[in-house]
Order: sequence, then structure tokens, then C-alpha cells
Amino acid sequence: MALGRPSMLPDRVPTVRELLASGERSFSFEFFPPKTDEGERQLWRAIRELEALRPTFVSVTYGAGGSTRDRTVDIVERLAHETTLTPVAHFTAVNHSVRELRHLVGRFADAGVRNILAVRGDPPGDPGAEWVRHPEGVLYAEDLVKLIRQAGDFCVGVAAFPYKHPRSPSIESDTSYFVRKCRAGADYAITQMFFQADDYLRLRDRVAAEGCETPIIPCIMPVTQMSTIARSEQLSGAPFPAEVAARFEAVADDPAAVRALGIEHGTELCQRLLDEGAPGIHFITFNRSSASGEVFQNLHPLTSSVKAS
Ligand code: FAD
Repeated sequence: MALGRPSMLPDRVPTVRELLASGERSFSFEFFPPKTDEGERQLWRAIRELEALRPTFVSVTYGAGGSTRDRTVDIVERLAHETTLTPVAHFTAVNHSVRELRHLVGRFADAGVRNILAVRGDPPGDPGAEWVRHPEGVLYAEDLVKLIRQAGDFCVGVAAFPYKHPRSPSIESDTSYFVRKCRAGADYAITQMFFQADDYLRLRDRVAAEGCETPIIPCIMPVTQMSTIARSEQLSGAPFPAEVAARFEAVADDPAAVRALGIEHGTELCQRLLDEGAPGIHFITFNRSSASGEVFQNLHPLTSSVKAS
């Protein structure tokens, strides 16, 4: 545990499992560990602004191949000790032996972090390159879930893919292995981002058809520029839906209109998901508060206003 820091850690930080079980919809924001001092200042501006919205939790990604290991631990530790937020640490298996993985779980525990999102991770550099298991490591996220569960009283989340994981040979195998991962001890899942509600609903139906009731939180990133649409396949695993793309094409020359439409579309998408019974919304922020904060506030008109960053 860090010494000399003002601690806001209550005796027992609630887990995402408990927060979801309370029946309240979950609203969360995802950040990544920045590489520069300016990036660090931007991150903490966004965190402070979004903290005012009282999200259910915030999560911090773990860089490919464990490249942000110390920065991820430092940020979740600061979140636990210096803010009122409930931090979730992403955690991957790439390049780590079982011994290192156990040690890292211990560091999260020492930092006061009881919520971990267990993902296998992609190879550093080219995410599509062959996945090579560390000689003394684990092979799948399912093994990581078991390892964290054995390490103590943690709440564990996992990843879900509306369009199947790119490495999965079929939707059926993707669903079966996802369900297996949930049964290994996952408390909830967060999806890959997507832009069309039906894609999430189909995933949820497939999983429910296998008798699995693990809550699946949809992940949304509001479109703020046309380049997001061009990168849709890389970001989400599927082309951007044609009818929504046509709405954006109509205003493509006007960046402010693209952003405004992105907030409108993001709000419509989240509202439909909530109306369909989604347990909450997880927002990708890219360490900026404004777009996700605006969508969040459209869904919660009474929440106090957040300053844009
Ligand atoms: P797994 O569940 O292990 O699945 C990987 C592949 O193996 C799939 O095709 C699956 O069907 C198959 N499979 C699973 N179990 C078995 C089995 N027992 N036998 C045979 N096949 C099996 N990456 C990062 O590097 N850092 C992050 O912080 C990060 N955060 C993420 C957060 C979310 C919400 C999501 C959706 C993804 C995140 N990723 C992150 C990306 C993720 O690490 C990659 O997509 C990775 O390739 C897959 O991870 P997984 O946990 O789904 O893997």
C-alpha cells in the first residue's frame, strides 16, 4: 500500500458484483495509462470531471504484453486512495508467468483493488500475430479467472465479443468458450465496443440459450469524428452499420455536426440498450470526459453538469 497518500479507502470497497446485484444500472468509464506528463494531466482532469457524475466504477486498461503494468497499478492505486471512485484493473496474461501473475494480483490487493477484469491480452505490436503462451504462463482468460479467484476475495469481469473474437472459428465456439469462462468464476462481462443495439442483443440471447446468466455490460464509444467510422472494423470487429453511416455522411464536412450527431446516436443506442434490460453502460473515454459525459447526462438529465475536457 502506498504510504503518505491521503486515503479515502472505506473499510470495504464494494465490488462490481455487489453493485450489479443491488439492481441499479451500472455506469462506468474506461481509461488507459498515458505515456506523457501532459497525457497524465489530461487523464486526471477527465477522472475528476467524471467523478462528479458518480459512476458505478471506472476501469484502467493494461497495455499490450503487460507494457503498462506499473502505470496501471499506480493509477488504480491512486483511484482507490485519492478519489471516491471504485476502480477496476484490467489484467492480461501475455508475457507473464503464473508466478508473476500471482504477484500482480497481490499488488492489486495491497493497493485496495478488489475488482479485476481478466482478459487474455493480445501480442504486443501486431494484435493479430500468433498468440504465444509464456512457458510458465496460462493459455486462456478462463485460466486467469481461476487464478484470480484462487488468490482471494476478488470480483472478476471478463470480455465478450458481439461479433465473435477474431480468433474464434465460429460464433458457436466463441459462445461456448465465453460461457465456460463465466462458469470458471466470472461475475460479469464487458463487451467489445459496437454501434448497433441488435448486435448486443443477439450476443445476450446466444449466451442465455446456453443457460448462462452472467450480466453482460455493453461497451459504447460515442462517435466524435468520421475517422471512427472508417476504423469501425478494427475497433469493434464489424463494419459500421450502413444506415447510421449514411446519417454521418450527410454532415461529414462539418466536424461540429458530426460530433453532435455522435452524441445523439450514442444516446439513442444507450437508451435502447437500457430499455432492452442491459445491466448498464461502459463508456470508452480515451481519457477525455466530454463525449461520454454528455451521453451519460442525456441519459441522466438530473445529474449535475460536467465540464468538457
Ligand atoms: P479468451 O477468452 O482467452 O479467448 C481468446 C480466444 O480463445 C477466443 O477465440 C476464444 O473463443 C478462444 N478460447 C477461449 N477459451 C478456450 C478454450 N478453453 N479452448 C479453446 N479455445 C478457447 N487487451 C489488453 O491487452 N489490455 C486490456 O486492458 C484489454 N481490455 C479489454 C477489455 C474489454 C472489455 C475487451 C472486450 C477486450 C479487452 N482487451 C484488452 C482485448 C483482449 O485482451 C483481446 O481481445 C484478446 O485477444 C481476447 O481476450 P479474451 O479475454 O476474450 O480471451
